Amino acid sequence: MNQPSPMTQPELEHDYSDIRNAVAKLCAQFPGEYWRKLDREMAYPTTFVDALTEAGYLSVLIPEEYGGAGLKLSAAAAILEEIQRAGCNGGGCHAQMYTMGTLLRHGNEDQKRRYLPQIARGELRLQAFAVTEPNSGSEATRIQTRAIRKGDRYIVNGQKIFISRVKQSDLMLLLARTTPREQAKSRTGGLSVFLVDMRLAQGAGITIKPIRTMMNHATTELFFDDLRVPAENLIGEEGQGFRYILSGMNAERILIAAECIGDAKWFIAKATGYAKERAVFGRPIGQNQGVQFPIAQAYAQMRAAELMVREAASLYEAGRDCGAEANMAKLLAADASWAAADTCLQTHGGFGFAEEFDIERKFRETRLYRTAPISTNLILSYLAEHVLGMPRSY
Ligand SMILES: Cc1cc2nc3c(=O)[nH]c(=O)nc-3n(C[C@H](O)[C@H](O)[C@H](O)COP(=O)(O)OP(=O)(O)OC[C@H]3O[C@@H](n4cnc5c(N)ncnc54)[C@H](O)[C@@H]3O)c2cc1C
Repeated sequence: MNQPSPMTQPELEHDYSDIRNAVAKLCAQFPGEYWRKLDREMAYPTTFVDALTEAGYLSVLIPEEYGGAGLKLSAAAAILEEIQRAGCNGGGCHAQMYTMGTLLRHGNEDQKRRYLPQIARGELRLQAFAVTEPNSGSEATRIQTRAIRKGDRYIVNGQKIFISRVKQSDLMLLLARTTPREQAKSRTGGLSVFLVDMRLAQGAGITIKPIRTMMNHATTELFFDDLRVPAENLIGEEGQGFRYILSGMNAERILIAAECIGDAKWFIAKATGYAKERAVFGRPIGQNQGVQFPIAQAYAQMRAAELMVREAASLYEAGRDCGAEANMAKLLAADASWAAADTCLQTHGGFGFAEEFDIERKFRETRLYRTAPISTNLILSYLAEHVLGMPRSY
């Protein structure tokens, strides 16, 4: 009898198994050496992203009426998990799946008809999402980038930092202040969301400066200098932007948590394989409890986090409040992938540091998710305040 893989929950073995197998097959065409070369050159994984786009994986969440596959969030989670589990990196394009959610939920019918079918066909890339600023940090309501209405357009001035995939996007979602903070009706009011057409904006009010980071992640600094955005590109109502952004965060957190689960599975499989094969002192290193226990611990941690990811996705799909679960999924999954990464590196001894094993690359890549898109401390603060009812700490 075939044993189910320890990385697959037995009762969920057929959960999107067709999609998972197809994604794994596609990813097999992009082995470690493909990613290592890009990593050395800090280059964008264009061929990989094109292959995912062509196969339709990046548009699965777009409803059928707008040309997408109209699949559930858990299908998107399965795709991203498999990408990471195969040793690839979805960080270059994962936002193409969910950034359109703000447009879908809060855009008007004209905007949706104009953009969503093109996004679904892969003709338009909407995978940049500009919130973070140098002076606001995690406190997004303090952003200073201003959009002031002048006739039929808004004039944008300000600065953003760590905005990813801008150069690889045709459209960018931008959060900017439309009412000065002191005049806004609430702490979260006075902010608005715009769709910026990057094809028109580049060289006409936006300067983009790449930021080199410890892993290959196409992230940039943006400077707005009298950028003109047509008023028709405002999403929803002026001043309600923060609420729109928040409504998309649960999906983002669940999907990134799924990526972390995929990373954890890759690290655990790699560590287990090596522990069984590498012989020192005349026996496999995996025969030592000091080597096998941390791997077993990482496995248990990953499985527990995986349950929370599934719980959060189920609540999301049922249209129920999943703020706590989405945050916990992201927290637990990012911690689990980091624990698995550290264990995998340790298991490999010196070889873990060698580029050709891909461990040091994945180690650097997965570390991001304890910080972005929301850092661990901010999730703990959210749980302490909103779930456990303790006083707000900041
Ligand atoms: C590679 C990369 C890609 C990114 N891509 C994007 C993107 O595409 N779009 C975008 O908008 N942003 C992006 N970001 C930004 C990312 O979302 C932020 O870095 C993250 O939210 C943390 O904000 P910060 O860097 O300003 O840290 P800060 O807010 O300055 O926090 C620094 C540290 O202090 C802790 N801290 C702060 N306040 C508190 C508190 N009250 N209690 C306890 N601890 C606290 C934080 O947890 C953190 O550990 C990206 C970042 C990186 C590194």
